Amino acid sequence: MLYTIPDYYKEFRCTADKCEDTCCAGWQIVIDEKSLVNYRKICRKLLVSIVKESDKNSFSKLWKMFTLVNWSEGTFRQDMEKRCAFLNEHNLCDLYIAHGEKSLCKTCKQYPRHVEEFEGVREITLSISCPEVARILMERKTPVTFLSQEKEGEEEYEDFDPFLFSILEDARKEMLIILQNRNLSIRERTLLVLAMAHDMQVRINRQDMFACFQVIEKYCGDKALRFIQKYLQKKETEKQRVSLAKEMFEKLYELELLREEWNVLLQETEALLYVNEKVSYEEIQKEFAKWESENSDIEIHLEQLLVYFLFIYFPGAVYDGEVYAKAQMVVYCVWMIHEFWMARWLKNEKNLELEEMTELLYRFSREVEHSDENLKRLEKMMGFLWLKR
Ligand code: SF4
Repeated sequence: MLYTIPDYYKEFRCTADKCEDTCCAGWQIVIDEKSLVNYRKICRKLLVSIVKESDKNSFSKLWKMFTLVNWSEGTFRQDMEKRCAFLNEHNLCDLYIAHGEKSLCKTCKQYPRHVEEFEGVREITLSISCPEVARILMERKTPVTFLSQEKEGEEEYEDFDPFLFSILEDARKEMLIILQNRNLSIRERTLLVLAMAHDMQVRINRQDMFACFQVIEKYCGDKALRFIQKYLQKKETEKQRVSLAKEMFEKLYELELLREEWNVLLQETEALLYVNEKVSYEEIQKEFAKWESENSDIEIHLEQLLVYFLFIYFPGAVYDGEVYAKAQMVVYCVWMIHEFWMARWLKNEKNLELEEMTELLYRFSREVEHSDENLKRLEKMMGFLWLKR
């Protein structure tokens, strides 16, 4: 079995009670079967010690276990503010304190680790929905690398296409090289990746899988870059640009809403950028681009995000063949995060701190990445939006 992790994986330490937006609140935590069995065992043990030793401490622990676990739904109960019922006033987990790390359910043990599974391969990343992981990525200046290690264990999946998977791995490798080529502008890098995915999709649709290797090779050379540079010289009108950005942004309203505050952020961003009577979208964009070039490492942040999303989602095309939609979704996510940054900069009277960029990043990830339904809907929308143009 081949395990792969990003090189900053071991840098992560949960900040626990210091966390600015704990992962133990805001969403329903589902308990896995094995943990539920374990919780029943803990209850039995506590009951025995109450009967044998009349232990008051055990009684309060048992009471908590009985009342704070929703046994019929297999979830942890939440308070009115949607905080996990085991989360105490110091933002520490009472379950962990009373019964140790082993008592945590699979979700709590694993988060913010994210695992993508393929035949004989596990790709483990850290989710930027965790503020600490988002901070690590936003502060990172050097290109991210990925480390792989072979460990014991073999498996076979039914209906897994190892040939397509190897094509996707090769393509992703080349795409990561392109995305981390700092001699090119971020627009050039992004368009090269999109164009490569588009050309691959055409070959996949006509079942000409071997031709995908020629596509990958083509994008290693200068010819594809010259084509992209020529394409970028074509000027879009302001009207076209605003209407596309607005149309793309509005798609976020069609996603499943996980947190109420997200809607507020969407409306605020929309009002600031697309229906602003005081200043046009084009002017905002121009001024923000100028501010970014003078005040932030924007191209580096965008590169890290593109690499993050592409690494996680692109190989998933082995299950549905949707190479182009995956690449579009990656670009869309990073584009929208950038729109949120731009709106916040405007709201702050043309200033934006790294902490705020980080906050908007993890909020976006929580809303979009933490719902399989949202990821599916987004991918579907991609085909619709790009084909229309
Ligand atoms: S969000 Fe991240 S840093 Fe915060 S409590 Fe959860 S794992 Fe720890």
